[in-house]
Amino acid sequence: MSQQVYPVPESFLKNARTTAEDYAAKYQQSVTDNAQFWREQAQSIDWIKPFTKVRDVSFDKDNFHVEWFGDGQLNVSANCLDRHVANHPDKPAIIWEGDHPYRHKIISFRELHQEVCRFANVLKKQGVKKGDRVTLYMPMIPEAAIAMLACTRIGAVHCVVFGGFSPDSLASRIEDSQSSVVITANEGLRGGKTIPLKTNVDAALQMPGTTGVTSVITVYHTEHPTPMQQGRDIWYHEAIAEVNEDCPPEPMDAEAPLFILYTSGSTGKPKGVLHTTGGYLVYAATTFREVFDIRPDDVYWCTADVGWITGHSYLLYGPLANGTTTVMFEGVPQYPTWARIGQIIDKHDVTILYTAPTAIRSMMREGDHYVRESDRHSLRLLGSVGEPINPEAWSWYYNVVGEGRCPIVDTWWQTETGGILISPIPGATPLKPGSATQPFYGVQPAIVDGEGNILDGVCEGNLVLIDSWPGQMRTVYGDHQRFIDTYFSTFNGMYFTGDGAKRDKDGYYWITGRVDDVLNVSGHRLGTAEVESALVAHAAVAEAAVVGMPHEIKGQGICAYVTLQADVTPTEELRKELRDWVRREIGPIATPDAIHWAPALPKTRSGKIMRRILRKIAANELDTLGDTSTLADPSVVDNLIETVYPDH
Ligand code: ATP
Ligand code: MG
Repeated sequence: MSQQVYPVPESFLKNARTTAEDYAAKYQQSVTDNAQFWREQAQSIDWIKPFTKVRDVSFDKDNFHVEWFGDGQLNVSANCLDRHVANHPDKPAIIWEGDHPYRHKIISFRELHQEVCRFANVLKKQGVKKGDRVTLYMPMIPEAAIAMLACTRIGAVHCVVFGGFSPDSLASRIEDSQSSVVITANEGLRGGKTIPLKTNVDAALQMPGTTGVTSVITVYHTEHPTPMQQGRDIWYHEAIAEVNEDCPPEPMDAEAPLFILYTSGSTGKPKGVLHTTGGYLVYAATTFREVFDIRPDDVYWCTADVGWITGHSYLLYGPLANGTTTVMFEGVPQYPTWARIGQIIDKHDVTILYTAPTAIRSMMREGDHYVRESDRHSLRLLGSVGEPINPEAWSWYYNVVGEGRCPIVDTWWQTETGGILISPIPGATPLKPGSATQPFYGVQPAIVDGEGNILDGVCEGNLVLIDSWPGQMRTVYGDHQRFIDTYFSTFNGMYFTGDGAKRDKDGYYWITGRVDDVLNVSGHRLGTAEVESALVAHAAVAEAAVVGMPHEIKGQGICAYVTLQADVTPTEELRKELRDWVRREIGPIATPDAIHWAPALPKTRSGKIMRRILRKIAANELDTLGDTSTLADPSVVDNLIETVYPDH
């Protein structure tokens, strides 16, 4: 744990909306009278029918219920569009940046509103009704946002499946959600390569389980023909030309389902996380405004794909509910070169950048000069999400990308939580690299031991939430028992996050990784994040993943998989040097027992390291690797096995 403290940069402090004292007072109030706090926040949303009751909550597993704003009614698309059309119709709602650097499109709130209404009418014409599920399998193009918002306009439940998934993964999600309509594009484009989306949909719809799909709506995105099945397939542009733009927003109960989204699958079979309308929107809108310190003229860029929760809450709903201009990028950071991120910032005068540690580490690995090709004068705030960020990567992000003037909000949250739960408030929170710092207003984290006893002060253990917040998931779609079992049965009366955390003397939280991944070496508990950060801090190391492996004496030994910097050669001396390095950085207990050179690490499609698989490889349990369908590149696993077991 690096205890270096970065005070709020001077230039940021000058205009800060929230000071450290404000935060402390407001936080205290928000937990003392939680209902009052959220009643006030909910005023920033337009209600068709105002709610009278704020919360009705019990985390007791035998009497579980969670309701927020229960008797209110609202419409998400009206909150994201109609009210901004009234105030600033010509303000850009979406700035779309294509895969190719010469393609971009700016869509105003007025234009977005029109297109969403039209597409909502297309959905109606296809027989989609309130409560019906619609699967999206889309590239990062404005039509993805349009389709999501159109679903919310008529009360349909969208289920976005990441466009990088295989036909099998798509089919299992269509089946699980029982969708009747699929929206896709003929092809996607990423880094100059095409992805055969429509062909994948066709393959998925051949599978048993998906026969409920009656129509497929396809965006003609690349100049590439695709076979269309009579009676089932329609073109987006043809369908939208046949309808008008008059589509009043459907009044929805606050607790009506809004969307289903599958978790990224780092730990096992993905869960169909169900979020509801009122609580989710209030939470996404409030956290977005406060955590990103939003001002009317911000140009905000979140690099996440719409297929992930970050793409839902902080690419689409949070920004648009606040009337903020949101940048949507179709491509990848390395195309055409690693300078692309900086070029996009300059091109659109981006003020806030929100991205993931995996992207930061890969940019850092390629060297500073790519970033330095750009000015980045417009930038004022940086964000990180998805994994613990290693202090080394944090410093690079802070000093090189942000040139020391932009605070970093390291935001901890989950698909299940709907929005950010632990994060600095820029302007108010002094930063510590690698710590997500403090809870958001109204959020009550706690750290418990194995028996569920709440620990005080400086401590380490399981991270739980002891009270509800409006954005929390309401169920696992179609399997409420799995929901209760997974989140509310480990520790009665608490939401169990599955993550481990430490709290330091300033009350800052440090996520140590998933509890299942925590190492237990000779009776000492060690977080994976800590050992990995020590390795990444060595100049030769680009990325590292650490897992436990069976060890006769210690019970568990430490096995590290290390990806070296592009120009470093692996040698026995280096292996020894790294062992000594970790021993010095953390202590003898953390010395790796094995270090494997990994050409690349197995990651989920959202870029998270899949330690579950690394653990199996370390234990030589190669026959039971488990579900690998959510891996970004399955060949990484074969290469690793070959490296670790050359004779296999
Ligand atoms: P699954 O639940 O299917 O295994 P997943 O947990 O990877 O998948 P997400 O909901 O996308 O799916 O990820 C949430 C998890 O990501 C958190 O529980 C935590 O482990 C990690 N995480 C997210 N943000 C941060 C952060 N800022 N710091 C540390 N860890 C983070
Ligand atoms: Mg998870």
